[in-house]
Amino acid sequence: MRETNFIIENNARHLWHPMAHPAEMQAHPPRIVNSGEGVEIVDIQGKKVLDAVGGLWNVNLGYSCEPVKKAIRDQLDELPYYSTFRGTTNSPLIELSYELAEWFKPDGLSRSFFTSGGSDSVETCLRLARQYHKVNGQPERTKFVALKKGYHGTHFGGASVNGNQNFRRNYEPLLPGVIHLPAPFTYRNPFNTTDGAEIAAAIGRLFEDEIAFQGADTIAALIVEPVLGAGGVIVPHETFLPLMREICDRHGILLIADEVITAFGRTGAWTGSRLWGVKPDMMSTAKAITNGYFPFGAVMISDKVAEAFESNKNSVGNIGHGYTYSGHPVGAAAALATLKETRKLDVAANAAARGEELLAGLKALQNKHELIGDVRGKGLMCAIELVSDRAKKSGAAKDVVQKVHDATYEAGVMVRTSGANVIMSPPLIVTAGDVQTILTALDAGLAAARA
Ligand code: PMP
Repeated sequence: MRETNFIIENNARHLWHPMAHPAEMQAHPPRIVNSGEGVEIVDIQGKKVLDAVGGLWNVNLGYSCEPVKKAIRDQLDELPYYSTFRGTTNSPLIELSYELAEWFKPDGLSRSFFTSGGSDSVETCLRLARQYHKVNGQPERTKFVALKKGYHGTHFGGASVNGNQNFRRNYEPLLPGVIHLPAPFTYRNPFNTTDGAEIAAAIGRLFEDEIAFQGADTIAALIVEPVLGAGGVIVPHETFLPLMREICDRHGILLIADEVITAFGRTGAWTGSRLWGVKPDMMSTAKAITNGYFPFGAVMISDKVAEAFESNKNSVGNIGHGYTYSGHPVGAAAALATLKETRKLDVAANAAARGEELLAGLKALQNKHELIGDVRGKGLMCAIELVSDRAKKSGAAKDVVQKVHDATYEAGVMVRTSGANVIMSPPLIVTAGDVQTILTALDAGLAAARA
């Protein structure tokens, strides 16, 4: 490998980063991560930190998952690529679709369509939702309903249903016919209440109102994250998703669960939908499906949707959608090994137990640090929201948030910041001791920002 200075200088010169201003990356170079082991990563200066981000909510089994690495190596030797477009397929992929149907049986999802990541999976869901209605003889159902603060990736469809200005404004015009409802957020909402059940009911009324205004026969689908991730870890009240399901059913609207983060155990349940006792019509997954080791995703499809397509003999049922890497054999092998390890290690149970410890610890930090306005989490997806004034709930300044991040890193733990939120989504294999390490470092980070 080239010498350290070459690496550092050329990042600024030639590399544009996702979700970053190129000028800022030149002024404040990013950390260069060189290696990973267990739940830790090591940067180019040799500093080792606990990765409380878990890659990007995806390295659920940590950086030393040998069975997944071996499956990738072996599959590279056997068949490094072949297409799954009409006419060909591959064995690991067929085995994977069988395993996924088993995995998602409790969610009522039995067919899979493969992609190269979360944005692709979302795009696939949106397209198939429109096509489902065409197949079903209701071609005018084309609109989508989504939540403010929702995140659904960065393709044009996903960006159109995204509920955060940062991912929309500079890319407009986006898809027409997208309606946004408020997020089920107790800390900030337009309903003047902190009662989660009341907020859920109020959003339900707005949804019904919007359906009446638009006409149910114009709406294809509602897309929601069972726990909103990138929007700042917003955990809806337990009544929220069942209510959305019931309204969708009553009006013939499909429910798409965007589980790119929540599928495979992160919330403490095997899926976010199961956490709330809801069966979606389609589910987008990616990230942890290969433990982050290979870019891969799967859209899971319910019997209802599948049967509409499969029983249709006309060209409208033909899936005119897919990617060169839909069903990549190396991704399939990685996913098969990941699923096996994920189940063997029962990481959902660990996420639930460690998540409770993390949440309790964050609440204790809130009592100590005025800077923390709100603490939220479910399983091992947690956030603290930093404020400059607790009563006014005004967001903390950017440099304060950066200072918390940097000082926490110095204290040995990588966290992620998004706006005024500090987000934690460590690998699901963390121990109780690791949770304490995260809390101790964050405590130091918060103290340093106050100093
Ligand atoms: N949906 C959700 C809920 C996500 O959190 C993400 C990524 N964080 C995406 C979609 C997009 O996934 P990707 O970045 O793999 O395209």
